Amino acid sequence: MTDIGPAELLRVLEALGWPRMRFGSLVLEGEAAWRSVSPQAHERLDIMHRLGRRELLSVTPVGRRRLRAWLDRRKASPPPTPRPWRITRLRFFGDEEMLPALAGALDANPAPVADFAVDECMVAGTGRSTSGFTTGPLPLLRPIVLCGALHDADLARTFLHEVAHQWTLEDMPPAPTAVAIVQARQINAANNWDCSADIQHGEDVADWLAFAWGAR
Ligand SMILES: [Zn+2]
Repeated sequence: MTDIGPAELLRVLEALGWPRMRFGSLVLEGEAAWRSVSPQAHERLDIMHRLGRRELLSVTPVGRRRLRAWLDRRKASPPPTPRPWRITRLRFFGDEEMLPALAGALDANPAPVADFAVDECMVAGTGRSTSGFTTGPLPLLRPIVLCGALHDADLARTFLHEVAHQWTLEDMPPAPTAVAIVQARQINAANNWDCSADIQHGEDVADWLAFAWGAR
């Protein structure tokens, strides 16, 4: 996703229940109000950035719960000053040349999401300076696997997209085997799997969030 067109922005706003937002001298709320304006490209981008720090974080029930829990934790114990660099806390297993792009992506995340990524996720990646690696058991955290051969901008975009999946997904079922993944893809490709609309919606939501957080 490299731009947000008028029709796509309306899809996002519809998914969010037509939220209240200041737009120039207007305060928009509800479908009729949003459909009565025609934001320019830079205004659509600004709206997405603002949604990405508020309403889009709650686009799924689990996202809403995560945001609520983060706000409660912060109220109970404010973060130390100065805060440690988040990238030094990210559980990353892979090629160190990938870290600058991941650090930039973490900085682009809203604070609740960046904290979620370092506290609850782990990241693995190979293909930048190694062709593969063998390791002991990895932490039992929510896994994100990245292709290190991507250029930094694509790597950052992909990381934001996968973090968005983790933020919006309910707890995942036990890890499938590689064979099960392949079979699921084949079934899906045969259009014989009634989850495909849900999966497509999940991809759309992850793209919206990554875009709203600055992935372009
Ligand atoms: Zn995806």
